[in-house]
Amino acid sequence: MLAKCANPSCNAKFKYLREGRLFEFNIVDGARYTTIPSSAGTGRERFWLCEQCSRVLTLQCTTDGDIVRVPRIARQQRAA
Ligand SMILES: [Zn+2]
Repeated sequence: MLAKCANPSCNAKFKYLREGRLFEFNIVDGARYTTIPSSAGTGRERFWLCEQCSRVLTLQCTTDGDIVRVPRIARQQRAA
């Protein structure tokens, strides 16, 4: 999953850890994901959003156990 950006419409390839943003979720029942640490022996999976996508998107885990991309809330940032 780390081979490329988690955004399907983006073809950015994973190269450097310092670029973009990494997400890690725990796998439950082999197919669903959770942010809650599960018992020992269950796996984890990492997802990566490239620099550009991570500016506008974030990854979240739904209560159904799916990973979804959600737009980041654009904060009214004032230039510091
Ligand atoms: Zn991307």
